[in-house]
Amino acid sequence: MNNMDISVVVPLFNEAESLPELESWIARVMDEHGFTYEILFINDGSTDDSWETIKRLSERNPNVKGVSFRRNYGKSPALNTGFARARGNVVITMDADLQDSPDEIPELYRMITEDGYDLVSGWKQKRYDPLSKTIPTKLFNATARKVSGIHNLHDFNCGLKAYRGKVVKHIEVYGDMHRYIPYLAKNAGFTRIGEKVVHHQARKYGKSKFGLDRFVNGYLDLATLWFTNRFGVKPMHFFGLLGSLMFLLGLVAVTVLGATKLYHLCNGIPYILVTDSPYFYLALVMMILGTQLFLTGFLGELIVRNSPRRNDYEIEEEIRINNRTDNER
Ligand code: UDP
Ligand code: MG
Repeated sequence: MNNMDISVVVPLFNEAESLPELESWIARVMDEHGFTYEILFINDGSTDDSWETIKRLSERNPNVKGVSFRRNYGKSPALNTGFARARGNVVITMDADLQDSPDEIPELYRMITEDGYDLVSGWKQKRYDPLSKTIPTKLFNATARKVSGIHNLHDFNCGLKAYRGKVVKHIEVYGDMHRYIPYLAKNAGFTRIGEKVVHHQARKYGKSKFGLDRFVNGYLDLATLWFTNRFGVKPMHFFGLLGSLMFLLGLVAVTVLGATKLYHLCNGIPYILVTDSPYFYLALVMMILGTQLFLTGFLGELIVRNSPRRNDYEIEEEIRINNRTDNER
């Protein structure tokens, strides 16, 4: 491994006023504790002079590095880009708006290197955000805990997190998936996930970049992650089961329909047209839906079959006799 202690990854979008303060605070904490470090500022297409500020900071402090997107992509793409470049043994992510405190870094670092956590997530136990944000957040976290099975986390989406270096190289954050990084890490086999209560401050400069749509999108993303994690390489197990159930229900409805009609015919009881019975419509809808679900399953399987990542596994260790490869044997 390399010998840089910490990479601090900071995604930012129009945060020019906060940056100098943030940089000098991080530098102060790092120097006090004697850490070797880098600060990776990922400028997510800011339209203010964030990038000029970062360039100025990097001239003063050689540990400051930066990447600038031509346009705004979102927090997840910014984090992913930072993760790809991070070289530290421990990677810390934090927001640029000074809501997270760099004073937490030494303890987070210790929890990774000494307590053996793969990932430590901050918990803003006392939040300085409007109620319109904190109440939905509670609901959101409860759902995320349930679906992901990571029961010990109170705050999935905290911007302040610490990772063992290799964790960030094995997870891919895209879209808006930064809300579920602990779940992504768990799915990649990193299960030692911890939490640390962190101080939180009200935003000093600028304004929040996320509105209430985050909750709608957040739930949709959670559903996506749950689905791709469970059925990503076996979609037929999902669609096939639903399709079969639907089809069976349809079949039952048809049977009931046919049998009643036959019974009435044979016994000379007056009967109605099958199309006048509600069962007819139920059977029709169920059978069509069932078939379509099945076809969706087949299509899913075709897509998986052609995906180059269908056999991508997280290999932790391997023993090979005399380090020979298969070809040499
Ligand atoms: N951010 C980003 N790209 C975006 C939106 C936000 O890089 O498209 C950054 C933002 O500059 C900040 C962090 O993500 O450093 C968290 O954003 P914000 O503080 O607005 O979120 P909140 O604290 O309100 O959840
Ligand atoms: Mg913030």
